[in-house]
Amino acid sequence: MQTVGRFAPSPSGRLHLGNLLCSLLAWLSARQKNGRVVLRIEDLDTARCPVRYGEQAAEDLRWLGLVWDEGPGIGGPHHPYEQSRRTALYEQALRALREQGLVYPCFCTRAELHAASAPHREDGSVVYAGTCRNLTGAQAAERAGQRPPAMRLKVPEEVWSFTDGHMGAFSMNLAQECGDFLLRRSDGMFAYQLAVVVDDAAMGVTEVVRGSDLLSSTPPQLYLYHLLGQQPPAFYHGPLLLDSQGRRLSKRNADVGLEVLREQYSPAEILGKLAYLAGFNPSAEPRTAEALLADFDWGRVPKTDLRLPEGLF
Ligand code: GLU
Repeated sequence: MQTVGRFAPSPSGRLHLGNLLCSLLAWLSARQKNGRVVLRIEDLDTARCPVRYGEQAAEDLRWLGLVWDEGPGIGGPHHPYEQSRRTALYEQALRALREQGLVYPCFCTRAELHAASAPHREDGSVVYAGTCRNLTGAQAAERAGQRPPAMRLKVPEEVWSFTDGHMGAFSMNLAQECGDFLLRRSDGMFAYQLAVVVDDAAMGVTEVVRGSDLLSSTPPQLYLYHLLGQQPPAFYHGPLLLDSQGRRLSKRNADVGLEVLREQYSPAEILGKLAYLAGFNPSAEPRTAEALLADFDWGRVPKTDLRLPEGLF
């Protein structure tokens, strides 16, 4: 079976080096297996990800030479390639889960969700306490008259495990560590977890490469693959890129955004430095994406987060 990899940026601003590292790893990992690459724009949150940011992200990736076989600007059998235009597919999946009796409406407000007693995950998000899980039909109907509900998936008290292609074995007790998770928000926006699984399955993706911040999203996603009767892809979670103070890169770090980098460096200069930092370029010398294929090896990529040294960029 041919490998199909993908990049799936959420363009809420200009791409930065962290997004590029992830896209570079995804591209190299798939291409080294003679695989195809899909570009999908994860713009579910249309207020934060306006169309022009998605177009700019595609243009920046093209400029870098991380060419894709299917996606914006090229088309392909699984179009559209913007999540904001794929809601009919998410509706269909939500319906399939509802028919299994696994979806319930949740009326909790943000304040209720963050009540002091709620168990918090490492990233500060809350494990849902299950408050609305056992509402009767009458109770739910009454509350629906007051505010539109979010939709949640009931998760079982089960441990789900998988072997990550880079990070190794990972397990999670779904009920205790993840909790009943959102499928759709109360404002109608579909949740990342549902959309990413529906799209990767629909697009025939066989390997998902992304940052290690999403490692703990994988067991609930595997559970969704199972419920939707789909074959899950292989997963590779790569290291995150941190700034020189050890903080995750974000829009705050304008100096590592492509707007600035494109003024200063060629694509090969950027990729060569990134690959050096990620362990598969012997020096920070310029290398094109094609040239890096010869040296790329997941075994050389660190498992711990990478701190950008002062002066590399
Ligand atoms: N759109 C997500 C992000 O940019 C990535 C989702 C994924 O790779 O599963 O963080």
